[in-house]
Amino acid sequence: MLLPLIYLIGSITFILGLKMLSHPDSARKGNLVAAFGMTLAIVGTIFLYRDHSGNSLGNYPWIFAGLVIGSIVGTLAAKKVQMTAMPEMVSLFNGMGGACAMLISIVEYHHNPNPSMGMLVVIVLGMLIGTVSFSGSIIAWGKLNGRIKDRTIPAGQAINFLLFAGILTMAVLLVFSISSAPFLFYGILALAALYGILFVMPIGGADMPVVISLLNSFTGVAAAFGGFLYDNPVMLTGGILVGSAGTILTILMCKAMNRSLKNVLIGSFGGQKTGGSVGGSKEQGSYKEISLNDTAVLMAYASKVMIIPGYGLAVAQAQHACHELEKVLEDKGVEVSYGIHPVAGRMPGHMNVLLAEADVPYDKLKEMEEANDQMAQTTVVLIIGANDVVNPAAKEDPASPIYGMPILEVEKAEHVIVNKRSMKPGYAGIENDLFFKPKTSMLFGDAKKVLQDLVSELKQV
Ligand code: NDP
Repeated sequence: MLLPLIYLIGSITFILGLKMLSHPDSARKGNLVAAFGMTLAIVGTIFLYRDHSGNSLGNYPWIFAGLVIGSIVGTLAAKKVQMTAMPEMVSLFNGMGGACAMLISIVEYHHNPNPSMGMLVVIVLGMLIGTVSFSGSIIAWGKLNGRIKDRTIPAGQAINFLLFAGILTMAVLLVFSISSAPFLFYGILALAALYGILFVMPIGGADMPVVISLLNSFTGVAAAFGGFLYDNPVMLTGGILVGSAGTILTILMCKAMNRSLKNVLIGSFGGQKTGGSVGGSKEQGSYKEISLNDTAVLMAYASKVMIIPGYGLAVAQAQHACHELEKVLEDKGVEVSYGIHPVAGRMPGHMNVLLAEADVPYDKLKEMEEANDQMAQTTVVLIIGANDVVNPAAKEDPASPIYGMPILEVEKAEHVIVNKRSMKPGYAGIENDLFFKPKTSMLFGDAKKVLQDLVSELKQV
């Protein structure tokens, strides 16, 4: 009687936690609430679960050895990871989830020598989706940390289609018991692993987060199948929540980049270099530089300043210096806000998390639409380590790979100041015309150093 109650509490904490994650103020607590529910469900299952014959789980040394090793590795990895390497870690952890779903299906396949057709469908689907998610996530992890290079696979789509047809044929043979040979089961597993690899391999550039989010939803669905298998409601709820949240996030990211999912998976960004220097070494004319002192004067006498943070702010760990700048400006009567692009940085919500870490009040963060509405009344826009998210090519150049992606329309403001270290392109590897526009001035240097110096200058103005 106690276990169903524990599962109910676990399921409720997942839903509450997810809800709380949707706001930066409550996100940290939401994570803890859901983790508490998960711990409760795990402990409850280990000690209270009884099968139909009344047997407990047993295998305690194995279970606890796994728990201890997993907890140590997970804690160390999460503590050590740089904020900018977060997407890689998410991808790797997600791959582990997929691998678990795959292993559950393998174990249950062997545990049930004469499964019903329904059970076989669940086992095969869990294994198939879990395996694709596992191999795909490992490739995504390797690509994000540069260990695996983007590769266009000749006739990739045709090969994937053939693989899919092969998987389907074997699955039908197995499920309808036309043949029950284990090689069919393991054949599906091998083809699914290959499918995951070939599916992610050619995708690159700015589309990687979308793929990771999609794979995340796959893992959720695969875990939900595990919940079915074990008749375990909390696993089912958890899987469904991850599956649906991942799907919603995928759709939102596609919308933020104004791209369809199909276009992301087989579209023009495929094979794009990740965060490099190709695609735009041609000179676009001349650009203008601005000194720290002139920047300080311009900002001190502005009525409204909007700060646009990007990946460079995270790299430089300049969030505290940025908050400091905001406070100094406000002391001088300047109204300060932040314009947040949904895909600025390297993961969804990256800028929100970063600025929250420096205690920037949440109401100062303006989402893209609201920021764009306020742009025309803004005296100075200060772009810190952002590039692609302010690239006008997204609006003006149909030949650009980012054409159609909504951007922060900084040119509507009176003055545009861009802080970065050089004229190098951002993640999408393309030139940015904004830097050469008459309204724009470049303020070169590392974001943290520049912001600290700017604060000192402002204090003297
Ligand atoms: P970008 O990657 O376009 O540009 C970042 C800029 O920061 C670079 O041009 C770099 O220029 C500058 N920079 C790097 N280090 C420093 C530093 N220490 N000090 C100052 N500047 C620095 O970033 P955006 O945030 O504008 O755009 C994000 C991009 O990443 C988009 O293309 C998006 O699609 C993609 N993406 C987004 C994800 C997400 O979910 N948010 C995940 C993965 C990719 P320089 O070298 O000259 O200093």
